[in-house]
Amino acid sequence: MDMINVKINGIAVSVPKGSTVLEAARIAGMEIPTLCFMKEKNEIGACRICVVEVNEGRGFRLVTACVYPVSEGMEVLTNSEKVQKSRKTTLELILSTHDKSCLSCVRSTNCELQKLCRDYGVEFSAFDGFKPTYELDTSTPHLVRDNNKCVLCRRCVAVCREQYVSVIGANDRGIDTNIGQAFNLKLNETPCISCGQCTAVCPTGALTEKDDTDKIWAALADPTKTVVVQTAPSVRATLGECFGMPIGTNVEGKMVSALRRLGFAKVFDTDFSADLTIVEEANELVQRLNNGGTLPMITSCSPGWVKFCEFYYPDMLAHLSTCKSPQQMAGAVIKTYWAEKAGIDPKDIVSVSVMPCTAKKFEIGRPDQSAAGVPDVDIAITTRELGRMIDRAGINFTTLPDEEFDNPLGEDTGAAVIFGATGGVMEAALRTANDWLTGKDNTDVDFEAVRGTMGLKQATVNINGADIKVAVASSGSAAKVVMDRLKAGNPDGWTFIEIMGCPGGCVNGGGQPIQPQSVRDTVDLKAVRAKALYDQDKSMALRKSHDSPVIKTLYSEWYTDGFGGHKAHHDLHTSYIPRKKYNA
Ligand code: SF4
Ligand code: SF4
Ligand code: SF4
Repeated sequence: MDMINVKINGIAVSVPKGSTVLEAARIAGMEIPTLCFMKEKNEIGACRICVVEVNEGRGFRLVTACVYPVSEGMEVLTNSEKVQKSRKTTLELILSTHDKSCLSCVRSTNCELQKLCRDYGVEFSAFDGFKPTYELDTSTPHLVRDNNKCVLCRRCVAVCREQYVSVIGANDRGIDTNIGQAFNLKLNETPCISCGQCTAVCPTGALTEKDDTDKIWAALADPTKTVVVQTAPSVRATLGECFGMPIGTNVEGKMVSALRRLGFAKVFDTDFSADLTIVEEANELVQRLNNGGTLPMITSCSPGWVKFCEFYYPDMLAHLSTCKSPQQMAGAVIKTYWAEKAGIDPKDIVSVSVMPCTAKKFEIGRPDQSAAGVPDVDIAITTRELGRMIDRAGINFTTLPDEEFDNPLGEDTGAAVIFGATGGVMEAALRTANDWLTGKDNTDVDFEAVRGTMGLKQATVNINGADIKVAVASSGSAAKVVMDRLKAGNPDGWTFIEIMGCPGGCVNGGGQPIQPQSVRDTVDLKAVRAKALYDQDKSMALRKSHDSPVIKTLYSEWYTDGFGGHKAHHDLHTSYIPRKKYNA
């Protein structure tokens, strides 16, 4: 590799040719502040927070470090008086139109703008004057846009484009420039897939998940209600980040403790219904293979992906498995089987879910998601919202003892745990298919070929002498590649496909804890968080969904007409809606 010698703040460093000043500084162990920059996603040099002084033989001058390339012999000053003055002026300009409501802002203490202002001692703006004001966009169930806190960094625009959705962009010009939907449409009038990726990268409180925690506090205070909660597989791998724990710490036991201390009557594990999804989905695949059904079959666990398919490939919905997502299956079982066992009228149960995903807020309101005649799930909150509830309740999360989920809906297998990572659903399905098709209790359950954080993975798996071709995609743009291949006649010969709406799957869902961009640029969040799940899977005695005791009990006591039987079909399966992108 060709190397270049530069001096950063007087320290000599050798960096690969083609590096930017920002990359060179990171190699030298120095962080230059950024606001609009996202590595390989939004390298636009627009906000000018990252200015540094460089000297290439013609004297020092200010450049934007995130896009400016290093050259041999370059001298760089990252914190000179001139640099600091420039950054302060930029921050004052940003603050001149900013709603500075830090006292109650949901992003306070986790806001990149607030941190910059604190670091540079900027509190007021010398440029106060005309300030446009914006109404909040609360039109969708999953997010709130508050452009009074927007810094025009366009990170949200970049990730929405990466999702192959692109429903947001810059409107108007000059001081009126604002980020929103074309023609000033409300977000719910666009083909937004509710993935929430924009909320995970926004550096400020301009884009946030819609907060539903007050509904939970109200339900917990209502003596006529039994409030139960389920937690998705990936939440245990990320919740600790809300309390400063290292990325990739599995906090399953502390999470259960915290939920009990918040007052939930029962703490269930969505993992049990991930196992349920696998057995229902595997059965559906076998039926399609035997009866000439639509193939390849595509998973339907990810509501962001389902909405993507409904909007962008409405003529291909027959490929989707009719299985409800694990969230909805758990909700259905809680309000039918468990309600009857516990002797509680389903109308008196408030069923809460904690999810990695803002699209789950949309999913709970979909039609055909009410097995007991009432919504399967009443309130869906994100990992971030649970973190705030634990904070508000004064629970010292890091010192909590480990506790176990409530049974019977708290028992799971390793197959369910890995649902939270891209490829996890596929691997879980392959473990079950391998046993069912060979008629054996196979001990080799690791299907490494479908692991990893790449957007699109393909594998050929030999089961019982037959080669089965599968694909795994995560993100809207990877989904587009897969769907276009299917439209071209499936030349790859795929039989079964897993698609997740978010890059890397649920561990990187739009409702997961927010890490500053400097961390997102340098740590592979998807891989580190997924490792926590694969480690847990490896340590478990049961690693195949069909071995789960709760699955065996459910089919012997409740779904007695078997996998895909009439009752299971009524409770656990759903239908889809071809959607128009815009109602012209
Ligand atoms: S977005 Fe940041 S700076 Fe603005 S009010 Fe919220 S916490 Fe404060
Ligand atoms: S939720 Fe997803 S699809 Fe909707 S605007 Fe944000 S990034 Fe785009
Ligand atoms: S909404 Fe957030 S991410 Fe989008 S441009 Fe504004 S500050 Fe940046």
